[in-house]
Amino acid sequence: MGTAEQADAIRRLHAQFETARALAESVSLAEAAPRILKVLGEILGCDHGAVWTVDPAGATIGCLETWHPPGVSLPAFAAASRQATFARGVGLPGRVWQSGRPAWIEDVTRDGNFPRAAVAAREGLHGAFGFPIVLGGSVLGMLEFFSREIREPDHDLLELLATIGSQIGQFVERKRAEGELGTLFQMSPDMLCIAGTDGYFRRLNPVWEETLGYSLEELKSRPFVEFVHPEDRSATAEEVKNLTAGEGTLLFENRYRCRDGSYRWFAWKTAPLVEQGLLYAVARDVTEQKRVAQELHEARETAEAANRAKGDFLANVSHEIRTPMNAVIGMAELLLDTPLRSVQREYLIALKDSAESLLGLINDLLDFARIEAGKLELTLATFDLRELVGDTLRTLGVRAHQKGLELVSRVAPEVPALVVGDAARLRQVIVNLVGNAIKFTATGEVLVEVEAKGRDGGGALLAFAVSDTGIGIPLEKQRLIFEAFAQADGSTTREYGGTGLGLAIASRIVGAMGGRLEVESAAGRGSRFHFEARFGAGAAHLARESSSTRIRGLRVLVVDDNATNRRILGETLALWRMRPTLAGGGREALARLERAAARGRPFPLVLLDANMPDLDGFALAERIRRRRGLARTRVLMLTSGPRPGDERRAIALGVSSHLIKPVKQSDLLERILEALQAPSARTPARATSARRTGRRLRVLVAEDNVVNQRVAVGMLERAGHRPVVVENGRQALAALARETFDLVLMDVQMPELDGFETTLAIRERERGTPRHVPIVALTAHVMKGDAERCLAAGMDAYLAKPLQAAELVAVMARLVPDSVIDGARLLERVGGDRRALAEVARIFLADAPRRTREIRRAIANGDARALRGAAHTLKGAVSNFGADGAVEAAFELQKIGERAELEEAPAALERLEAELKAVRRELRRTLLTGEQPKRARRAKGARKPARARKARPAARKRR
Ligand code: ADP
Repeated sequence: MGTAEQADAIRRLHAQFETARALAESVSLAEAAPRILKVLGEILGCDHGAVWTVDPAGATIGCLETWHPPGVSLPAFAAASRQATFARGVGLPGRVWQSGRPAWIEDVTRDGNFPRAAVAAREGLHGAFGFPIVLGGSVLGMLEFFSREIREPDHDLLELLATIGSQIGQFVERKRAEGELGTLFQMSPDMLCIAGTDGYFRRLNPVWEETLGYSLEELKSRPFVEFVHPEDRSATAEEVKNLTAGEGTLLFENRYRCRDGSYRWFAWKTAPLVEQGLLYAVARDVTEQKRVAQELHEARETAEAANRAKGDFLANVSHEIRTPMNAVIGMAELLLDTPLRSVQREYLIALKDSAESLLGLINDLLDFARIEAGKLELTLATFDLRELVGDTLRTLGVRAHQKGLELVSRVAPEVPALVVGDAARLRQVIVNLVGNAIKFTATGEVLVEVEAKGRDGGGALLAFAVSDTGIGIPLEKQRLIFEAFAQADGSTTREYGGTGLGLAIASRIVGAMGGRLEVESAAGRGSRFHFEARFGAGAAHLARESSSTRIRGLRVLVVDDNATNRRILGETLALWRMRPTLAGGGREALARLERAAARGRPFPLVLLDANMPDLDGFALAERIRRRRGLARTRVLMLTSGPRPGDERRAIALGVSSHLIKPVKQSDLLERILEALQAPSARTPARATSARRTGRRLRVLVAEDNVVNQRVAVGMLERAGHRPVVVENGRQALAALARETFDLVLMDVQMPELDGFETTLAIRERERGTPRHVPIVALTAHVMKGDAERCLAAGMDAYLAKPLQAAELVAVMARLVPDSVIDGARLLERVGGDRRALAEVARIFLADAPRRTREIRRAIANGDARALRGAAHTLKGAVSNFGADGAVEAAFELQKIGERAELEEAPAALERLEAELKAVRRELRRTLLTGEQPKRARRAKGARKPARARKARPAARKRR
């Protein structure tokens, strides 16, 4: 390359570089144009230059700027250029525009398409070239340069100019886009900013000024963190640090100070440009939203606090009222057990009745208040619906029978055995409806029906109905009665009593269960209250049938004068695959019994209603006993209410069992099985022997209130137990360390160490040992959650005050299962030597299975003598342990052997095995582990092996 060429190359590079610099330092083409013209004009040695731009409409091209070097004056040409506009293709600008390419004119004065030629000639301009400003193929404008001499075309130069033209084109486009963004930036209602990672704002839009009151310059002059609320500064710095590292919070919030000293909440969205050290951010003023949210939050807090206060108030009222009521009712119960003159007794009964109804009223009021406060929450659990209905009606049966009403229930066979729902609330509704039905009915019957409306995977829709034959409700009052404190007739209040709360509560509960409580009634025609409720599906159907194979196909005569009762009993028996025959009275029954006996197929079982008009149950039972052909017929008696002497009469007549209506299905089944097991109807009913009194339990009563102590002690002593009283948890712990108790009754609220703490301490001590003393909480609080708290603390059950004797007894029976062996008697026999006793037990455990096998073999071989012998031996062995139930069962087998009536043997053997199983378990548990042997009670397990078996693993599980 020669020096001239080198100089050329340097010149061109220089031109390109200088153009770029001029562009970089300008904000618009107008600003850049003079510099570019000057730079290029000087480098290329020209005498005149101009920049032309295409107008926005794209119709013409016009001059934006002209240039000439210092010392050169071309006023006419410059003026002509400035004034001219050309169409596409016209003149040098028009030609470049049209072709999009650079153009070279050697001498403009002799060019045919150069309108300014005359002026150029006058001012001595000849050579010219022009190039377009292009962007993506379209021409935005052009640059032209002129010189006085005539020039040869220089293609390299034109190449360079083309490059510069597109460089300028890009600049123009960028500036246009920037212009648009800039407008948006200025217009945005959100606060936009670009900040450096050095902590200073670089660019801010005008909203900042409007929002904070500081000018943009002020904001940019100090580190931005200085405007941030002092409490938010470290979080802001942290956020900036994270953003710089490329990981910011999705939505960051902080407060900015305004010029007036107040603060505003900003919510930020930021995109970091890490390499440039820049943060692009949008801040939104969320001060208003924050304020509203805060107000809402505070309002909710206040409402919740008010609700909590209401709840606490209810709990306290409940506690305060129940404590004295406990004393009133408990003391009245105790007093009734003392010798009293009849008038005193009468007054006392009235006192107790009133106290109980007052308590009922208080419960209703509290319950209603609680429901109104929106606290009706259902506690879901699996339960046996038939058991629930049966149990509920049994308690109500007493009242019904006192009025001479039949109380009947029918749970349709399709209703699933186990459902998931709130059993306590359902019971409450049934109690209320049935209670009303009894209250408002003078004669006739009250019928409770449950039917399945539909079953699906999710559960069952059940329809409940309670019908009565009472006074009914006039149509116009039917809506009213579901309202709180409303009764059908104000004047009936005095006659029937009540608060009018019952139905209001019941209908809300039904509502919570997804149903609607409704009534059909007419004055004088009885009422029918009904509702539907949805329940979850319980576990698989109870295996009720398994125990009842023995009764399948069994013919039963049902004798009852009440048609509803008859129908329901018949249906129930049929459900168990028995074959019931229904008789409406004593005479009809007798006729049927005799006819069947005459045909040689006597009824094996009769279900007899005790109270019937002409020939009552007892008379009928007596006739049955007297007929020779009916000797093997077993009789089960159902009575509406036990009258004095009934029991004795029933035993005398060899009635197998004596059931009080309304009878629960499970009870009925159990009694039927029992009656069929009994060796013969002539043997006295087993029911009585099971009623022998229970053991004396040592019960620790931890209770600080003296009156409550006396109530608990009175009830326990009356039930034959031995209570020991302590006043607080500390004393309870000391007593438990000193001696063994069968059960603890624990008041929840006590000074020093409360019931929960004490229970935790007891359970802690028991840890790692097989011990588990059952603890029953006594609590005056009956709010939801109490039961859970008690159980969570390690208690086994809880009783609400006022303490009811029946509930106490029931809980104790559940928690302290009867022992089938009399350990104390046993220990006595071996002279108090525990080791010897354990040895005896071991021998028995090894030997007993052999004896049972002998018995089974004897039965299988039809060998009566062998049966007698083996049963006798086994009887001797179990009698050592005072296991009365097993002794009795063995004795029965022995007698069967003596009578050689071997067909009765399998049932008796089954019983014996159940008894032996219980004995074996008990022996292993007490004697072999060294646990204190208990005084025995005849095993309930003997009568109800299934239940006894269930109770123990449950107790063990809790350890
Ligand atoms: P209470 O029975 O305490 O008055 P309820 O809300 O249970 O309150 O009942 C409201 C009213 O509805 C009763 O006072 C009575 O007038 C009417 N009522 C409810 N059940 C029956 C019924 N089975 N037969 C007739 N009237 C009834």
